[in-house]
Amino acid sequence: LISLAIETSCDETSAAVLKNGREVLSNIIMSQIDIHKKFGGVVPEVASRNHVKDINPVIIEALEKASIGFNDLDFVSVTYGPGLVGALLIGLSSAKALAYALDIPLVGVHHIEGHIAGNYIAHKDLEPPFICLVVSGGHTHLVKVEDYGKYEILGKTRDDAAGEAYDKVARSLGLGYPGGPLIDKLAKEGDKSAIKFPRTYLDDSYDFSFSGLKSAVLNYLNSMKMKEEEINRADVAASFQEAVIEVLSNKAIRAAKEFSMTKIAIAGGVSANSALRERLTIMAKENNLEFYYPPMELCTDNAAMIGSAGYYEYIRGYKSDLNLNAKPSLRLGQK
Ligand code: ATP
Ligand code: MG
Ligand code: FE
Repeated sequence: LISLAIETSCDETSAAVLKNGREVLSNIIMSQIDIHKKFGGVVPEVASRNHVKDINPVIIEALEKASIGFNDLDFVSVTYGPGLVGALLIGLSSAKALAYALDIPLVGVHHIEGHIAGNYIAHKDLEPPFICLVVSGGHTHLVKVEDYGKYEILGKTRDDAAGEAYDKVARSLGLGYPGGPLIDKLAKEGDKSAIKFPRTYLDDSYDFSFSGLKSAVLNYLNSMKMKEEEINRADVAASFQEAVIEVLSNKAIRAAKEFSMTKIAIAGGVSANSALRERLTIMAKENNLEFYYPPMELCTDNAAMIGSAGYYEYIRGYKSDLNLNAKPSLRLGQK
């Protein structure tokens, strides 16, 4: 089965062609990061306008690179939520137009299911069940993946997402946008035990909270400025990052043990983080768990991961109506 997948939920315009669920024939990603950088974050209206400009060329390029014509397509997968409504609508409208014109099925995909499925592309042998820690710009979910398309959310953030915390702390350090990769890099030069920032465990819950940590970093920076003491930004980055990954890793491993899982995976933009990958590699080994993470280009937003999730929906018989609407706050497991 050959499918086209489209992703426009935030600031990447992306189209991919897949053969079945795990073979990527092309994955074109047009990032708007340079456009939004000067605003310090994604400006929704600007994102929508650029999706309109880029979507057709990106789709054409994906098909050309895969040497696939419109008539070879068996179905179209598309992200319909969660995300920015104006951004989602561009990809969704394109996908509907194609499905209608070619008379092929449309499969609406949940963006976070897409992030999880990034691991299916990277690891051809990975099968559910497993525990997946989804850490992205807008989400921090600890998920029990029971089967393809079957999820139990064990916990999620009660305030900021992990990626959001990275981006906000980076901004307060004057590092620019997006902050995650910049903190990751700077932290390598710092001492992770230099500053003791709080770890928020919320007792036995699998929920997360990062706003207290974010405030603690801001307070630290302000008090250092008041005292006119020099700030070691690398130490701040490393100490902040340690507080984030310690909690993420410990909860993920605890969930795997509690539910007797043998496999653990990470997904979403923050799963590109080198310290998180290193920590979980070690902890998984100590706990006899198989640890999976996607390559960098499948961690952040891309259409190939949407195509993989869409494929498993399709073969389970799930198809969307052509009146499918964008759902900005669609929940995982919800249709
Ligand atoms: P969502 O998927 O929740 O809708 P999104 O699509 O905007 O949000 P992603 O593209 O999955 O988010 O990820 C972007 C986030 O990942 C940003 O917050 C960015 O700072 C973070 N990120 C990217 N690389 C790294 C890294 N190496 N370390 C930490 N964070 C990172
Ligand atoms: Mg993005
Ligand atoms: Fe995302």
